[in-house]
Amino acid sequence: MNVQFFIDASFILATLLFIYGLKRMSSPVTARSGIVVAGWGMVIAVVASFLYVFNVAPEVKPHLTVNIALAVIALALGLGWAWRSGKKVEMTAMPQMVALYNGMGGGAAAAIAAIELFGHKAHGPIVLIMAVLGGVIGAVSLSGSLIAWGKLDGRINGTWRFTGLQAFNGLILLTLLAIGAWTVWTGGAVSPLLISVFFILALFYGVMMAMPIGGADMPVVISLFNAFTGLAVGFEGYVIGNAALMVAGMVVGSAGTLLTLLMAKAMNRSVSNVLFSNFGASGDEAQGEISGSMKPIEAGDAGINMRYASKVIIAPGYGLAVAQAQHKLYEFVKILQAADVDVKFAIHPVAGRMPGHMNVLLAEAGVPYDIIYDMEDINGEFKEADVAIVIGANDTVNPAARTNKSSPIYGMPILNVDQAKQVYVVKRGQGKGYSGVENELFFADNTNMVYGDAQKVLVAMVQAVKALDGGGH
Ligand code: NDP
Repeated sequence: MNVQFFIDASFILATLLFIYGLKRMSSPVTARSGIVVAGWGMVIAVVASFLYVFNVAPEVKPHLTVNIALAVIALALGLGWAWRSGKKVEMTAMPQMVALYNGMGGGAAAAIAAIELFGHKAHGPIVLIMAVLGGVIGAVSLSGSLIAWGKLDGRINGTWRFTGLQAFNGLILLTLLAIGAWTVWTGGAVSPLLISVFFILALFYGVMMAMPIGGADMPVVISLFNAFTGLAVGFEGYVIGNAALMVAGMVVGSAGTLLTLLMAKAMNRSVSNVLFSNFGASGDEAQGEISGSMKPIEAGDAGINMRYASKVIIAPGYGLAVAQAQHKLYEFVKILQAADVDVKFAIHPVAGRMPGHMNVLLAEAGVPYDIIYDMEDINGEFKEADVAIVIGANDTVNPAARTNKSSPIYGMPILNVDQAKQVYVVKRGQGKGYSGVENELFFADNTNMVYGDAQKVLVAMVQAVKALDGGGH
């Protein structure tokens, strides 16, 4: 048996582990083990790549030591950085981290393309097409993801928009296509200068694509760049004949595409609307008439009312993640359950700032999955609920989405919290949601506002109910 056999077998095994791991990630119950399984797939793929050492062409042998040293240094740097940042990242900063890692993937794919193109390696037209496409998509994903990261992290503010922007971007794209086509036409015999221009333009295009998009839409854009990275990696896997790269790239590409479409659908927007319109920027102008007034209530009183309710539905949102109040929330839920209250969680598909944000948050606090419901499964139950408590959510419970055609969230499906007999809304003050629009729910007759940080409010609720039930027993 030769080394090539081991390499191929390892890549197939790694591929199977990627796919199986991804499958396990589709349910919160098995997601953690899915990540571990896919991680082992990655370890096998990395180790197998080093087996090429035993299988190199004679002319490469003199460079082997330097190349291995470079690969080990790169691995050590990447591992160290990812280990550190992965450990200390806050739940709310997860989208930024995904953006950065994703950008690195795109950059790696572009780097493979660069080596192939600058090295003038002998390739047929199909391989050249793949190299060129992977190069451009990877480079766009790298610079675009970096801009997305900067915007989400508050390092880059504002959006660039000027008349003719789309035509300008179209021109860059055409130039890129022309250089790419020329490269393939000439069999890769193009000057290093032209290849440099090609990559610089691709990087510039990524910047121009991401800069006009508001920070608020970045999670969708990151998901799109994620799909781009997958595609680029898949193409470059084909170029260097690496099955694991090809399959991993295709899996990431299709998963990213599906996720992008799902997110856009849950917000009732098209992907082109996300890319080419400035969502939420004109939020204040799109207000309908809101009547009524906001009626505050003490946290303790709201807590005690829930203690005597028979059915309570909780609608968590971004603010719960900001306050990191998931553990306190579950403590409160357990107290209610002990008092025979039927408690359920209602999860909107885009609650929070990334898909599955709320599920991850609640799983972290140990909330059992059988009381967590997706929007479509629970929306019919709100009318039977005595209390719907909204904790740090805003847009996902805004009834304007149903009625106000001028609202930027018009058409977005929402949680029917307003149909409950009593609604409590926990938030710190008059802060708007992600889309920047006012919420008429807060002014409704059956709504009371519980002002305060979600963590502090829940502490007060727990204390009030415990005191009522006998000093904490
Ligand atoms: P929103 O962003 O609409 O609202 C969050 C609310 O939480 C704010 O009004 C804020 O009010 C309140 N809040 C903030 N911090 C705290 C705190 N410490 N304690 C209590 N309340 C707090 O949240 P939703 O989850 O309802 O909606 C998510 C939005 O994000 C949607 O518009 C969705 O389209 C968008 N989105 C989601 C994505 C996803 O994948 N999940 C991706 C892209 C966009 P105040 O300042 O007064 O406290």
